[in-house]
Amino acid sequence: MGTALVTGGAGFVGSHVCDRLLAEGHAVVCLDNLMTGRLCNIEPLLNHPAFTFVQADVRTFQPDRRVDEIWNLASPASPPHYQRDPVGTLMINVVGTEAMLAWARRDGARFFQASTSEVYGDPSVHPQTEAYWGNVNSTGPRACYDEGKRAAEALCFDYRRTYGTDVRVVRIFNTYGPRMDPLDGRVVSNFLMKALAGEPLELYGDGSQTRSFCYVDDLVEGFFRMMRSAQPIDGPVNLGNPGEFTIRELADAVLELTGSRSPLAFRPLPTDDPKQRCPDITRAQALLGWTPKVPLAEGLARCLPYFAGLARPS
Ligand code: NAD
Ligand code: UDP
Repeated sequence: MGTALVTGGAGFVGSHVCDRLLAEGHAVVCLDNLMTGRLCNIEPLLNHPAFTFVQADVRTFQPDRRVDEIWNLASPASPPHYQRDPVGTLMINVVGTEAMLAWARRDGARFFQASTSEVYGDPSVHPQTEAYWGNVNSTGPRACYDEGKRAAEALCFDYRRTYGTDVRVVRIFNTYGPRMDPLDGRVVSNFLMKALAGEPLELYGDGSQTRSFCYVDDLVEGFFRMMRSAQPIDGPVNLGNPGEFTIRELADAVLELTGSRSPLAFRPLPTDDPKQRCPDITRAQALLGWTPKVPLAEGLARCLPYFAGLARPS
């Protein structure tokens, strides 16, 4: 089956990718500096004979083995995390991605890039198709992430054009599920943790901004269809659930699910917070036969036990 390198493999999404690769019979090397990832996400894998964990930074790590495929997920993903060290965030995505692409080129490995709906910025086209070039503020506080991911995409397609590297680029829309870091500030984990603790759910702005929430199992299925497609796939592919909800609607769904009586509290809207976001997944449907299956209410219910376990006083 060959060896798969997963950068960011100790993170929320990356750890699910490691699980699936091992289940499919691959040897897996997880390369992660634990900047935002957590060992508990890969704890059950550490004794697996086909799993190797390497704690290192993608920007500086020297390739030390041959690999057959590289899944490049290393990057902080939540706004509070990626804004804590903005220069570092940009360089992880540019220098780190280039280092991993060079490794893929050396070994003739297929390369997967975890890009993001943030490449569309605060979009003026709705829903967002891959043909839309986006509306990113290149000087604002989200630029380190948005422009880092845009530059990473450019690197991927330049490696394809220049060296023929087989790159697979997905643009991931907001994804949630078990193993999210409950403290990383993303809205689903924040709302579930607050509701379970009976604390106020904090809505930034008036809560009318929209997002489309994809359950992690659906996302990972899309990843594998993208990576396993026998035909090279030219250009990026959106992966996300097209069900679109206001943040207020998400808060209501969380309160209903948990039976919590937490009040809503309104806080200032962060700078450059996108007003709306919803994927057009026509391309994923046509090229990969992929459609997400888990609606929001069901996905929230599925990950409730994970968050309830974390919220329980020890
Ligand atoms: P996460 O923070 O849980 O995982 C990111 C992982 O990358 C962590 O384990 C972290 O320690 C690791 N990492 C960061 N910098 C590194 C470095 N320099 N060297 C090695 N490892 C490093 O976030 P996630 O939600 O699992 O996101 C995974 C990928 O998917 C990211 O690239 C993110 O940009 C992308 N993405 C995620 C979402 C989402 O909703 N979850 C949406 C769009 C894009
Ligand atoms: N948000 C919120 N309360 C929170 C966390 C986030 O209202 O506790 C809002 C945030 O301003 C944004 C949306 O929820 O409009 C999604 O935020 P998240 O950080 O999860 O993802 P992103 O902004 O990267 O899409």
